[in-house]
Amino acid sequence: MILNGQVALVTGGSRGIGRAIALALAQAGAYVVINYRGNRPAAELTLEELSDKGGRGELSQFDVSVEKEVDGAVKQIVDGQGKVDILVNNAGVTSDGLLIRMKSEDWDQVIGTNLKGTVLCTKTVCRVMIRQRYGRIINLSSVVGQMGNVGQSLYAASKAGILGFTKSIARELASRAVTVNAVTPGFIETEMTAKLTPQLQEEFLRSIPLGRFGNCEEVAQLVVFLTGPGAGYITGQVIGVNGGLYM
Ligand code: NDP
Repeated sequence: MILNGQVALVTGGSRGIGRAIALALAQAGAYVVINYRGNRPAAELTLEELSDKGGRGELSQFDVSVEKEVDGAVKQIVDGQGKVDILVNNAGVTSDGLLIRMKSEDWDQVIGTNLKGTVLCTKTVCRVMIRQRYGRIINLSSVVGQMGNVGQSLYAASKAGILGFTKSIARELASRAVTVNAVTPGFIETEMTAKLTPQLQEEFLRSIPLGRFGNCEEVAQLVVFLTGPGAGYITGQVIGVNGGLYM
């Protein structure tokens, strides 16, 4: 129970990788606030599973790309729990397709959720962490942000943006003992990746040295480590969970 007594906020914690992270943090002893945007039944299922396993937490509905909603939600957490020790910026969306067919609304949606959402949540939560002189921020980027991918230019741009943001904020917050790191998953089996074409999935599989897709728990265990006491001297880093897809 390395996270006993700590309060964590996981954005997009209702499904996929975010759900696995929420469950793993709770198993490690943290009180977990599970954010979601619209799919309440999925969020309730996650909270139910977390409680069944002896964990503690609550749901928090807000859109990470809307500053007012983020501010209100974080205030509510601080009013209720007194602090926020861990922020996992996990909420993310894709809008795949070739650039020539892209509409500007696609750009707004992907950048708005993935990059602006990460910036807004970090901005609001880091004020609390600066006061506490302690905090752990983990940003979910992607291997696609490191190596690019045909048909994922918007997504890649949003995820590469997160890497530059992570390193800058790590420098800004280091003197307050707040660490900021990015995790770059490769091909992880979730609803998001199920939407990729079978052809794209095949291509990925051929290029993964470990010869398989990853699972959500493998990402979650890295996040738990980065939020725990063993990771106190790690900041501004980009850590891959990708089966060797990108080295
Ligand atoms: P899913 O599509 O399975 O889940 C996305 C989550 O984000 C849901 O909880 C969803 O909430 C939430 N969400 C989406 N938009 C918003 C918003 N505007 N405000 C608040 N919450 C929102 O995603 P994955 O689990 O596959 O991915 C999780 C993260 O990992 C993402 O950042 C993704 O880019 C990254 N990643 C995933 C990889 C993969 O292989 N799956 C690979 C590399 C990176 P709701 O349920 O209410 O819609």
